[in-house]
Amino acid sequence: MQYVFPDYYKDFHCIADRCQHNCCIGWEIDIDEEKAEFYRSQPAIRENICWENPPHFILGENERCPFLTDKNLCQLIIRYGEESLCGICADHPRFRNELPGRVEVGLGLACEEAARLILGRRKPMQLLDASNSEDEIIQLRDEILMVLQDQQLGVPQRVQKMLAMCQTEIPHMDWEEWIDLLLSLERLDPAWTDLLLSVQCLPDNLAAFDGYMAGRQHEYQQFLVYLIYRHFANACDWEDAASRALFAGYSYQLLRAMGAAIWQNTGAFTFEQQVELARMFSAEIEYSDENLDIILDELTF
Ligand code: SF4
Repeated sequence: MQYVFPDYYKDFHCIADRCQHNCCIGWEIDIDEEKAEFYRSQPAIRENICWENPPHFILGENERCPFLTDKNLCQLIIRYGEESLCGICADHPRFRNELPGRVEVGLGLACEEAARLILGRRKPMQLLDASNSEDEIIQLRDEILMVLQDQQLGVPQRVQKMLAMCQTEIPHMDWEEWIDLLLSLERLDPAWTDLLLSVQCLPDNLAAFDGYMAGRQHEYQQFLVYLIYRHFANACDWEDAASRALFAGYSYQLLRAMGAAIWQNTGAFTFEQQVELARMFSAEIEYSDENLDIILDELTF
């Protein structure tokens, strides 16, 4: 099987106890069968697992993994080594897409350090080990990735071109409908709700904000490239592909509007704030299959 991955993939390193949004807090982790057998054999581990189907760790106070120390280190790694981790913990923040003739892997933006690595890159993303695919949706995806990285064009023009390639366009729904849709979804963090409310009306300083961000357009480029790489080729047909392109386009507009609102209120918008917006977007939307399905359904013609 062919494995395809972005050129930055191997540069990722978990920052563990320095991470502000540790992935061992707030997420219910399902345990795969192989590791469940090992965990069942260790009394100190066994009692911290709910053995329903699928088995999962019983979260402690503040939804912390029971094996996370006060210093945010993993006791399982300390005591039993990295090979003792279940599949989800060992893989995170990596994702994999099984596509015709290949497996594509990448890093998810819900991890703050992955978000720093991805959004901070100025050079175009290249896919390594990717030979030409016979699959027409993958072929179109690869053409879109080239368009999104065409620095001769402004980012809004690249988005328009991407949508035209998928025979769709924005507006598919108006701005208020888009924000209402996001507000109707399950939300994890009250800060995300506040951000959505802050852009219920599209900020009127977008052109000025684009000027402020003129030297940082690569952050939006990388965000769009990430979304298309991760989600587009999973489309089951052309209609679904168009809705995934719209999802990327609307998500770019959302990130840009949130940045503009923060800039309007505080007079600054830093790279770390951008990382935090992207991380929250990913955790709230992308990492919820249910939320993503609802959005893609709404964006389907
Ligand atoms: S979110 Fe990323 S950096 Fe933070 S603990 Fe998890 S893998 Fe490490």
